[in-house]
Amino acid sequence: MRKMGSVPIFETVSCLDGYDPDALHVDKAREAMRACITPIAATESVPIRSALGRVLAENIVPRINVPSHDNSAMDGYAVRFADLDKPLTEIGAALAGRPFAGKMDAGQCVRIMTGAVMPAGSDTVVIQEVVKREGNRIVVPPGQKRAQNVRYAGEDLKIGVPVLEPGKWLRPAEVGLIASLGMGEVRVKRKLRVAFFSTGDELASIGTALKEGEVYDSNRYTLHGMLERLGVEITDLGVVRDDPAQLEAAFRKAAAADAIITTGGVSVGEADFVRALMAKLGEVLFWKIAMRPGRPMAFGRIGDAFLFGLPGNPVAVMVTFHQFVRDALLHLSGRRDDYAIPLLRATAAENLRKVPGRTEYQRGVLFLDSGTWKVKITGQQGSGVLRSMSEANCFIVLEHERGAVKAGELVQVQLMEGLA
Ligand code: AMP
Ligand code: MG
Repeated sequence: MRKMGSVPIFETVSCLDGYDPDALHVDKAREAMRACITPIAATESVPIRSALGRVLAENIVPRINVPSHDNSAMDGYAVRFADLDKPLTEIGAALAGRPFAGKMDAGQCVRIMTGAVMPAGSDTVVIQEVVKREGNRIVVPPGQKRAQNVRYAGEDLKIGVPVLEPGKWLRPAEVGLIASLGMGEVRVKRKLRVAFFSTGDELASIGTALKEGEVYDSNRYTLHGMLERLGVEITDLGVVRDDPAQLEAAFRKAAAADAIITTGGVSVGEADFVRALMAKLGEVLFWKIAMRPGRPMAFGRIGDAFLFGLPGNPVAVMVTFHQFVRDALLHLSGRRDDYAIPLLRATAAENLRKVPGRTEYQRGVLFLDSGTWKVKITGQQGSGVLRSMSEANCFIVLEHERGAVKAGELVQVQLMEGLA
């Protein structure tokens, strides 16, 4: 039941240069997902306080100037620059919200406070600290500049000049900016709906006793946390046994969402029917990505929902989420700003093992050492060692072509702080 006009996945990805599902470069995987995903169209209007973290769906074009009048940037005196060589007579005061009603003539000045409208006839503000005052006469020292300390109408936002475009992610600054235009509501994309479940016969749910050979399902909790930080609506479908009927039922329920995330069941050694079932229910590609951790991954579509079939290993889940799912979901949500996670440079504090031919996301600790940012790994780097994520504050991103790293070389890092 694919939506009219939705992109056929296989045809789209097989047209990409250098597409090789059995040794897919990480950049290609990201590109392939983006190529297949059309951002959601539905929008809604929300009060601006609720707009934080949402994706803007309209052009914001000011209908007023901000500020609306020329005003003072400092506490001091509003003057005419041409008069400054003579003593001036103070004829009144202008306060924020209480403009000076009269007009200033030659040789006059007005006491003015920050934010107050510039009195008619004035063009410059002299700060109060430098002025000499005797009664209502003031003397201004030389060295002032014409128009100093004046904020002009429209200096922040100008009538008719677009300021925010659709696709912009709304942070506190944007919410404030929209408020400064007097708007109480704003149109945003509707929130994404994401359903997820864990697969595996070995998984025990929290609250049950662990039987021999079982592990508690932690992936659903890391996923829940990462999705919550992305600001999507979450449907947690629990643990699903490696059983065709249960899996099929779970997929059918999940397909009501915009995206489905599963963990486990996509590696080659897995009970193959998980893969077979995904393939039966929709159009799903199985990739071996040239990366570590997180090599196997499924991507496709079941009904109208995009499917991200992540590996089962807890670290692989988090890495593939950060590197692919986050990007794909933000694209799906309608974001058009640059949301790629920045790559920064730091000095390797120790030798790092690496083989060319895959991108590695080692878990690292970035630290300041006598003014230089250095990075070391968190110890055991196995893809099942979730502690390595907890101890880390960054990923050390070792590029595809790169071999072993020697202490002292520069490496790329991505900060985890602020990420999902
Ligand atoms: P799989 O990709 O299904 O072969 O799983 C790979 C490894 O990850 C196995 O050791 C699983 O026990 C483990 N694993 C799979 N799913 C989970 C989960 N939800 N929570 C914790 N560990 C898991
Ligand atoms: Mg499994």
